Amino acid sequence: MKTRIKEIYKTMEYGPAPEDASEAIQFLKKYNNKFNLFINGKWVTPSSGEYYDSINPSTKEKLAQISEANEADVNKAVAAAKKALPKWVSIGAHQRARYLYALARQIQKHSRLFSVLESLDNGKPIRETRDIDIPIVVRHFYHHAGWAQLRDTELKDYKELGVIGQIIPWNFPLMMLSWKIAPAIAMGNTIVLKPAEATSLTALLFAEICVQIGLPNGVVNIITGHGSTGAAIVNHKDVSKIAFTGSTEVGKIIRRATAGTGKKLSLELGGKSPFIVFEDADLDSVVEGIVDAIWFNQGQVCCAGSRLLVQESIAEKLYKKIRARMENLRIGNALDKSIDIGAIVDDTQLKTIKEMVQLGVDEGSTLNQPSWACPTEGYYYPPTLFTDVSPSATIAQEEIFGPVLVAMSFRTHKEAVKLANNTRYGLACSIWTENINLALDIAPQIKAGVAWINCTNVFDAAAGFGGYRESGFGREGGREGLMEYLKPKINESFTDEPLPISTNNLDTPNENGQPSLGIDRTTKMYIGGKQARPDGGYSTVINSAKGDYIGEVSKGNRKDIRNAVEAAHANNKWLNMTGHSRAQVLYYLAENLMIRREEFASRIVQMTNQNKTDALQEVDLSIERIYTYAALADKYDGHVHHTIHRNVTLAMPETLGVIGIICPDESPLLGFISTVIPAITMGNSVIVIPSEKLPFSATDFYQVLETSDVPAGTVNIVTGGKDELAQVLAKHDDVDAIWYFGNNEGCKDIEYLSADNMKRTWVNYGKYRNWLNKAQGEGQEFLKHASQIKNIWIPYGA
Ligand code: NDP
Repeated sequence: MKTRIKEIYKTMEYGPAPEDASEAIQFLKKYNNKFNLFINGKWVTPSSGEYYDSINPSTKEKLAQISEANEADVNKAVAAAKKALPKWVSIGAHQRARYLYALARQIQKHSRLFSVLESLDNGKPIRETRDIDIPIVVRHFYHHAGWAQLRDTELKDYKELGVIGQIIPWNFPLMMLSWKIAPAIAMGNTIVLKPAEATSLTALLFAEICVQIGLPNGVVNIITGHGSTGAAIVNHKDVSKIAFTGSTEVGKIIRRATAGTGKKLSLELGGKSPFIVFEDADLDSVVEGIVDAIWFNQGQVCCAGSRLLVQESIAEKLYKKIRARMENLRIGNALDKSIDIGAIVDDTQLKTIKEMVQLGVDEGSTLNQPSWACPTEGYYYPPTLFTDVSPSATIAQEEIFGPVLVAMSFRTHKEAVKLANNTRYGLACSIWTENINLALDIAPQIKAGVAWINCTNVFDAAAGFGGYRESGFGREGGREGLMEYLKPKINESFTDEPLPISTNNLDTPNENGQPSLGIDRTTKMYIGGKQARPDGGYSTVINSAKGDYIGEVSKGNRKDIRNAVEAAHANNKWLNMTGHSRAQVLYYLAENLMIRREEFASRIVQMTNQNKTDALQEVDLSIERIYTYAALADKYDGHVHHTIHRNVTLAMPETLGVIGIICPDESPLLGFISTVIPAITMGNSVIVIPSEKLPFSATDFYQVLETSDVPAGTVNIVTGGKDELAQVLAKHDDVDAIWYFGNNEGCKDIEYLSADNMKRTWVNYGKYRNWLNKAQGEGQEFLKHASQIKNIWIPYGA
């Protein structure tokens, strides 16, 4: 008997357990399987008159026809959103909260319809849409109904941006819609959203839900179409922000297209996330983690753990277990409740996966696939493991976006970190070990926006999600995500012209036409803690505001910038100091500046012909500003997010790395201090281009730096042509961020050139701050731009 049962278990086949699709089919039929655009609360035929097919990837059958929106339709949708904006703002936080709550409730009530429709349209297993995608969608609307309610109290220093353009991909269609729409409308914005061409159906069902709950017309507009429709949204002048999720390639196109326009941007792009397994990990849990990391959603996940890094001592054992698990995975129609893996979204994507796998084989890696064959009626691809992969192999570097795991081994912890960071991306990482000390030692060392410890692919509305490096910037979820849809109210007080200064003629030049201060020397640059002569051997004459000769500064070039970047990277000391230690150095810096108060004030007078009292005030404010950041150095904390999972999620502000700072021309000392000090407070090293016209306050500051225990390489100063040097910095691949204060043309160049390695940029779009005003010239906004948040998920509690 015993043997028979064992025998039956071994030979027993799963029968199909199909989900009933009739309600979803009914929904499609209601529209005659042909969908128009949802603009201003109504269904509108596309101006082009063109439609394209939406296909069920599980069967290749046609589901519906979708409208192709063109520029005229985008104009209509943006106009509707713009018209709806004032009322949506004026109804207030509580009314908006009610609408968001109603959306959450209504989606929840129709959750199975959404799940089935999503599985039909995308090919992802119903088990996932039912248990993961749609519950996360509902959670997002509930969570943001709460934020809508709290908007006027918790975020009173911020205001909405206006009309938001949102472009989403096909891998999590409704989930990405909820991540974009919920925070945007909760904060009082109105939106135009474009779903991906392959997966528009649940967005169109969502439009119907908007009508059902009586959402005011024009608050949400959904227009379907291809990349050109997305581009028309990006380029529309009345759109204040673009929120995009998709490929890094298109992300770069959008960065360049919006350069200099003042449009806010958040980009959630590709990844090649490491899944790191140490030898003491629980290997059976690891195997299930791998299933979730790379075979969940057929591996079409931006944060998929697609690079398995495993400690050499257990590598073969783990590979064996993975192969056994792959053999047992079931693939098939997305509506079958007993399958693990569904269909790839379309034939183009399937072709890409096949080509990448062939490339892996051609490059000499070993292919492992299960013995069973995939169904032939849809776009299926089997779970795949590559072993014997070199870290430089194409499949180890490029995103495959399919169920393909690429494995490499490491010996030491250091090597694991090095391999993990050997990528241009930085979206997520997953760390597996039973040793909490090891896990928490590794997590901060990985350059990624999310770190999952002994778990993977966990998401929640309360925690931020987003990347480092070429995985993009901005966060979705939690308080961090709200900031993407708001701007500080103080921005409205910036001006088109610099603040006038009071000048006098007290400090007249002496008989020789030379300044009376006696500090007229040619200043060198400051690189790696040393004064450095310019590579080109040129100097530039600096005259005072009255046109008198003051002195000369070195004319820096590309080579000097390269040296400065190298020096900044060599400086690990500052990076690894605690906030407390950095604070002490900053206080010391302030103290040393205080000793030279008179001298710095005279220098300002000499350059600007400003009256001495005001110059002294600028020095005093500079000292005070350093105090402010010294105070904040150990107080700019992160958060602990209360997610719905059995985790504690730490949102830790981390250093960006190396920041290029192009200083403002106004307030020569205070402008320099107000930008450089917050950047270094967060542990960054900086390359500073001081004001081209008034550089001496910055160059005099070397001596203060030298006497204040600031480690070499923390602050590097390169003088010379502002825009020429700024462009070199913007193009440099080892610079992580750029802050630019200058004219609008310069801002545009910086944003455009920074797209290559997706630098974080912070530019002033030609507007002027009053640096003397604390509300404009200092504060946490500066620290926010000097850091990025890593969300670390740690198993916690019951
Ligand atoms: P895309 O980046 O091309 O598409 C994402 C979204 O952007 C879609 O809605 C797309 O429209 C739209 N779009 C395309 N071109 C433009 C443009 N010039 N301006 C504005 N919007 C545009 O991704 P794909 O769907 O082509 O997938 C290609 C690769 O991207 C995948 O293999 C994968 O590597 C990566 N990817 C990453 C995702 C992530 O979550 N990070 C998600 C999806 C893909 P439409 O699709 O209608 O043409």
